[in-house]
Amino acid sequence: MLISGASIAGTTLAYWLRRHGLTPTVVERAPAIRDGGYKVDIRGAALDVADRMGVLPSIRARRTDVRGGSIVTATGRQVAAMDGDTFGGRHGGDAEILRGDLNRLLYDLTKDDVEYLFDDSIAALVQRGDGVQVTFESGAVRDFDVVVGADGLHSHTRALAFGPESSFVHDLGYYVSIFSVPNHLGLDRWELTYVAPGRTALTYSTAGDGGAKAMFLFASPPLAYGHRDRARQEALLAEAYAGEGWEVPRLLAGAAQAGDFYFDSLSQVRMDSWSRGRVALVGDAAYCASPASGQGTSLALVGAYVLAGELAAAGDLRAGLAAYEREMRPFAEANQKLGPANIKRMVLRTRGQVRTSLAMLSLINRLPGGKRLMAKAIEPIRRAANAITLKTYE
Ligand SMILES: Cc1cc2nc3c(=O)[nH]c(=O)nc-3n(C[C@H](O)[C@H](O)[C@H](O)COP(=O)(O)OP(=O)(O)OC[C@H]3O[C@@H](n4cnc5c(N)ncnc54)[C@H](O)[C@@H]3O)c2cc1C
Repeated sequence: MLISGASIAGTTLAYWLRRHGLTPTVVERAPAIRDGGYKVDIRGAALDVADRMGVLPSIRARRTDVRGGSIVTATGRQVAAMDGDTFGGRHGGDAEILRGDLNRLLYDLTKDDVEYLFDDSIAALVQRGDGVQVTFESGAVRDFDVVVGADGLHSHTRALAFGPESSFVHDLGYYVSIFSVPNHLGLDRWELTYVAPGRTALTYSTAGDGGAKAMFLFASPPLAYGHRDRARQEALLAEAYAGEGWEVPRLLAGAAQAGDFYFDSLSQVRMDSWSRGRVALVGDAAYCASPASGQGTSLALVGAYVLAGELAAAGDLRAGLAAYEREMRPFAEANQKLGPANIKRMVLRTRGQVRTSLAMLSLINRLPGGKRLMAKAIEPIRRAANAITLKTYE
């Protein structure tokens, strides 16, 4: 079996296929596993998957340990402060880790007994009755029984086997940018969020990182830019935040120097089926819920576990893929609903909404039962994160 993409979904799938006695190969476009990156949450059923992989203690050891966060005004005045779990929408045992650190842990679990092909990619796929002939960018040609696209929101495997991205990727009407910046505010595992009409900017520092991250969210109609045209992306970001107060100009100035600049639309992938013949999809490639859901990493972990388990349990490809869809679809859909709902709370449209929201947050912060109220607000995430009962496939 060939897996395209060595991130969260790809490495987890490789791990479980090996554990079920299969021999996957993983092809990754990047020259190596990428470390660092933004913080992601692992919640609910995904914690169970990590536990079954024996990697949960390492995840906890590398937790971001963000102690909490504050909402600030244009002049930097703190309006409300919350503890890390409330701020991050986490319950009890949920874990927050840098995406790259998680990727490294999952890769290390598999690197000794899985074939990884870095710096390469699938150029063409030809499906036949009994297999798929894959031509790689490097020129190599190999046969596989199944190909799984774990290559993210802009999946190349999906484009090759299912058709153009525009048929499946739905823009939610917002953009996100994130990159490393110097920690000029001296943050110590703390997050600051500034909210203006149509724009939310934040910065945070995590345990063991001498620097900080800056993240920008903004509402916008579709923008024209190339996925690899960084100069244009930086210009669009600067334009969206022109004239904005607080620390925004200083954070924006960090974009040009950042080695990890990221810019994309907030989008979801919606498909009627996650397989076509001998090609299947997992993680963001199949059911990206958007970063606003806070559940993309958990979906990738759970989806990979279920796909490997159902393929191994069925013994027959068609039955295994059908069972994967049956098990995963309600879970994926429950988590996808979080995306559009959350982003409306994260980016407020009008000055009036910003004023009301800041006043409410400030009030809740001072109320004796305020913490309970905030916990209630994150209840939908907890429910969606647990909306699947994992089978045991061994
Ligand atoms: C700014 C931001 C904030 C986020 N915050 C959170 C959060 O708080 N909580 C959360 O759960 N999730 C969050 N996410 C989402 C999370 O990162 C993704 O949902 C998750 O990483 C999906 O994993 P994946 O393995 O499916 O895809 P990806 O992580 O996108 O990985 C795809 C892999 O495929 C590789 N690849 C791409 N094209 C090719 C190709 N042609 N050939 C070979 N390899 C290829 C890529 O290099 C990459 O390694 C956030 C995402 C972003 C961008």
